[in-house]
Amino acid sequence: MTDQDNVEFEALEGEIEISPPEIYAANLIEWAVDQHASDLFVSDSEHSVIIAIRRLGKVQTVRRLARDYGHKLQGHLRVIAGSDAGDMLRPTEGRGVLHTPNGSKVDLRLSTLPTLFGQDVTIRLFDPVRGTRSLSELGYDSHELEIIRSMIAKPAGLILVAGPVASGKSSTLYAAVDALNDETRKIHTLEDPIEHGIPGIMQSQVNLRIGLDFADLLAVVLRHSPDVIMIGEIRDARTAQTAIRAGISGQLVLATIHAKSAAEAIDSLVQYEANPKFIARSLVGVINQRLIRTLCPKCKQASTQPASQVPERLASRVPTSPDHLYEAVGCEACFEEGYEELTCVSEILQNSHEIEEAIASSQPAATIDAVARQQGMLTLAETIATRVLRGETSLVEAQRCAPDPLLLNLEQ
Ligand SMILES: [Zn+2]
Repeated sequence: MTDQDNVEFEALEGEIEISPPEIYAANLIEWAVDQHASDLFVSDSEHSVIIAIRRLGKVQTVRRLARDYGHKLQGHLRVIAGSDAGDMLRPTEGRGVLHTPNGSKVDLRLSTLPTLFGQDVTIRLFDPVRGTRSLSELGYDSHELEIIRSMIAKPAGLILVAGPVASGKSSTLYAAVDALNDETRKIHTLEDPIEHGIPGIMQSQVNLRIGLDFADLLAVVLRHSPDVIMIGEIRDARTAQTAIRAGISGQLVLATIHAKSAAEAIDSLVQYEANPKFIARSLVGVINQRLIRTLCPKCKQASTQPASQVPERLASRVPTSPDHLYEAVGCEACFEEGYEELTCVSEILQNSHEIEEAIASSQPAATIDAVARQQGMLTLAETIATRVLRGETSLVEAQRCAPDPLLLNLEQ
């Protein structure tokens, strides 16, 4: 036995030190939800089982358990989620509802993966109290909200939400669908997986095991007289081409797509062999977004460096020129992290006559980007800079989110 095998079993606050795994599991999940964690990981390492959470987008290790006890905990979590606790050799999936000791219900989705030293158990936590948030609760500023609302008010066309994994794309889609869900439209969603149930809309789940992918489902949904269609992700040519056609023929289609910038999202459609002329006619706009941590208002501190003059392109979005920017400190209220919550920041490309012509004539993404900027689009780095200048986030966090020379020049 090595030293690491003797890792002390650390109790969660207020809990008896050695408790049965089912009680530990319930307390752990309740604690993770209290911390606003989005995921909980219980993973085998060489000598112990590590418990970690993802909070505000970042992973934090919280406990190391002795292997025996950790395996009992993993087994119990698998039972809660209805996944086969005996099958350690294959990846498994499950869903469940946990009743926590304080009487609330938490929806969880569990996935297991065999690894070198055992298994990785990943649990996504859905806090029913928070559930689907509205567009105004996602952190866009009033200017971004106005553009997004005007785009989803269009009767037809394609709206794309771009960004990497964990950039809040599906929260934005859900919020947009929620805003349109007023009983005057027939709304269908195609999801993988269905994250929240929304009353009043038709939600369908992709099921690759029986060969039902986004493209197959979309073809069926189009025969069900939809007004609005939300597509979890465009990731193949058939889905891309069908979504574009639906946008031209009278449906409002909202979809996420993998792309680094708004203009590159259009390129991604071209990569899926979509006809540029059809893309140009169908596209309403692209919201390219990231999640950024906002400073804890209780402990943020003014930087000693004076701030630079607000760049001219940002002047209308930063009403008062600040003397200095703010830095993270850490206090009890923010669990010593210096940050309070995750908020959406975006670059929004709206289609226009000029952009339509650029897309239809197969101009490169850089040209489309330049046309959009000329028409007033703020790039992602520029939008993030407005948040820094307004004292809502730090320069360090801004650079982590979007490394850009513009941000370096915000301080003298
Ligand atoms: Zn604080």
